[in-house]
Parts: sequence; structure tokens; C-alpha cells
Amino acid sequence: MRGLVDYHMHSVLSDGTATYEEMTLAAIEKGLLEIGFSDHVCLKPVSWAMQEVDLPVMTRQIKEIQDKYGHLINIRYGIELDFFPGKEERLQRIINNLPLDYVIGSVHFLDSWNFDGDESFYGKWSNDHLYEIYFRMVQQAVGSGLFDTIGHLDLIKKFAVYPESDQRKLYQETAVLIRESGMVVELNTAGLDKPCAEFYPSPQWLEILHSHEIPVTLSSDSHHPRQLARHYQQAIDLLKKTGYHQIVRYQGRKKSWLKI
Ligand SMILES: [Zn+2]
Ligand SMILES: [Zn+2]
Repeated sequence: MRGLVDYHMHSVLSDGTATYEEMTLAAIEKGLLEIGFSDHVCLKPVSWAMQEVDLPVMTRQIKEIQDKYGHLINIRYGIELDFFPGKEERLQRIINNLPLDYVIGSVHFLDSWNFDGDESFYGKWSNDHLYEIYFRMVQQAVGSGLFDTIGHLDLIKKFAVYPESDQRKLYQETAVLIRESGMVVELNTAGLDKPCAEFYPSPQWLEILHSHEIPVTLSSDSHHPRQLARHYQQAIDLLKKTGYHQIVRYQGRKKSWLKI
């Protein structure tokens, strides 16, 4: 999709399959205006994320790729940082020590359960209870003030797990907090390729966000070059239908706008 942005992608430094260079060349090929790398950074020692000690490697590689291809495409430096309640100071220190353009805050853990990678605990609670736990965690991440973008807002539905009853009140409460925080929500197109088969967040969620005048940006959560800007035409159509006519761009943790 020519002239657009893609702010959520992973390289071999976390759990992606390609280098920064391979991802960048694919993005140039697709005519993207701007990309942002957002490798996983996690306080827990997991195989799919960079640890604090690895971060100078990432910063150096980002600088190298910007120097090499910056005349062909805008390359931004982001991270996808796992939120853990009670660890806000450590997370803030990580963010402060990196020359970042934006920070995606994601919830992949409920206590020690990595719920988007391990299906074994689904069914332990009612889905209503699970959604409540998940969105309370998202609310804490939003309230922490650490992040610019919320990653895959309704990731808890990934394995097509849906609440038993209407959760509109919980969503409205969450939207109010997002609005107050000044955060941006990404329309993450990866969900369409998962069992839930819809974007994160869903069209219904997007309507709630729009009614609260919450800004959005666009991302593919790519782990492979061919996934860059995946399903973007459908995403743009949905955004316009919902009433969005511009999306957020980032540089140096400051927002600007791109018309769609
Ligand atoms: Zn994620
Ligand atoms: Zn991701």
C-alpha cells in the first residue's frame, strides 16, 4: 500500500524471521512511506524477546539501517514492550535509555500465563472473567503513562475466545481511560490471519474508539517480509467507514497526522 505507514514489525532480534535489511527492502518494494521496527522487549527472560542487556545491539542496528536506507524510506525506532504491573520504574528506565520514536505497550501475560502463545489455560475461568482480567490489565497499562500506542487492544480474542455476555461497559470504561491518557490505538491487521479472523481491535471496538475521538495508527505485526502491510486495503476501508480520515505518525515520541 503506497504512501502508508507500518509501525509494528519484528525482526530476527526478537521473534521475526528476517533481518532489518530484508524487512526494509520489502517495505520499499511495497511503496510504504514509513516503517517502524518494534521488536519485543520483555522483562521476563523469554526466547521471543530482547532483554535489557541486548538493547545496545538493537539501537546500533537501527542506526545502521537508517543510514543505509533512510533516503528511500523513513525508518522509525520503536519497541513492543510488555507491561507488568509493579514494574513501571524498570520499564520507564528502559524507555528513557533508548532513542525511541514510539513505544507500543502490550499485554501478553496474565500473571505468568503467556496467553497468546499458550492455549492450555483457556477454560479455567468463564470467558467473561477472562475478559475482565485482561482488560483490567490493559487499563493498568494505559494508566501507567509509559506507552504511546496500545498493542493489539483485544488480543484476548486471538483463539476465537469470546465473552459469554455483553462487555460493552468494560470496553466503554477502557475507552474513557485511553482517551484521558492521550494514547493511540493501532489497527493491527495480523488478527485477520489468526483463529479470531478479525483485526485487533474489532470493527465494533473501533466504533467505540471513534466515538471517544481516540486516534489510531496502522500496523501489520509482521514477522516475515511478505506480511508487511497485510490486509491494508481492507483496513483503510474499515477506518474510513468508521469515520477516520487520518492516522497517527510518530517521530521522537511526537505525533503528527497522515491523511488516508
Ligand atoms: Zn504483541
Ligand atoms: Zn508484535
